[in-house]
Amino acid sequence: MTAVDPVDELHELTRALRRNLARHAGRGAWAAPGGRPAKQPTKLEVIRAELGECTRCKLHETRKSIVFGVGDPDAPLMFVGEGPGEQEDKRGEPFVGPAGELLDKMIEAMGWTRESVYINNIVMCRPPGNRNPQPDEVGACTPFLEARIGAIAPRIIVALGRPAANTLLGTDAPISVLRGKFHDRNGVKVMPTFHPAYLLREPDKKRDTWADLKLVMAELERLGIQSPRG
Ligand code: SF4
Repeated sequence: MTAVDPVDELHELTRALRRNLARHAGRGAWAAPGGRPAKQPTKLEVIRAELGECTRCKLHETRKSIVFGVGDPDAPLMFVGEGPGEQEDKRGEPFVGPAGELLDKMIEAMGWTRESVYINNIVMCRPPGNRNPQPDEVGACTPFLEARIGAIAPRIIVALGRPAANTLLGTDAPISVLRGKFHDRNGVKVMPTFHPAYLLREPDKKRDTWADLKLVMAELERLGIQSPRG
């Protein structure tokens, strides 16, 4: 079988999303009952519709839910994790288990809220047994992550854990090497730091993580972006 080039796939997906955005813009609406004018679909709604009941990788075989992102579609600050865990798979929402509770606390300590940032993962279906996502799974799902990043256009992305940081930055360096400084990704600043699930196992690393998040807060301030809590 011929391997599918993920770059070709991404280009094809981008073309499809553009076609759909143009089609919906031209039609002026999604289908509206009773002929009433309906609101324009948002870019994220078009991306979700394009995803459908996705079977693009083998993770679909064991998932309960496709876990799309949540939060503000115009958020200047995005968090990207690795993939849904058991609770997330059950509830269909990212970062809602114990690691999610810790992430919420981290976000609140920064002066932001879960609703005012955007939270998502590199793969949207749970890897069985919480194993790391495999390269073919990441390759199949990241075109949709790219599409979400393009739609939301965050100024800063916090990459939570090595798989997210490696995927976003195209490297295989460990998180201990990548964290603590910004990396440029096509004009978007990426701050790798430890995943909250790792912090639950290694609470000593919370100090380093907070140092990383303080750099993010300082950069947001430098960019003139105020947190909802000022
Ligand atoms: Fe589709 Fe992504 Fe789920 Fe794979 S992980 S089946 S590519 S939504």
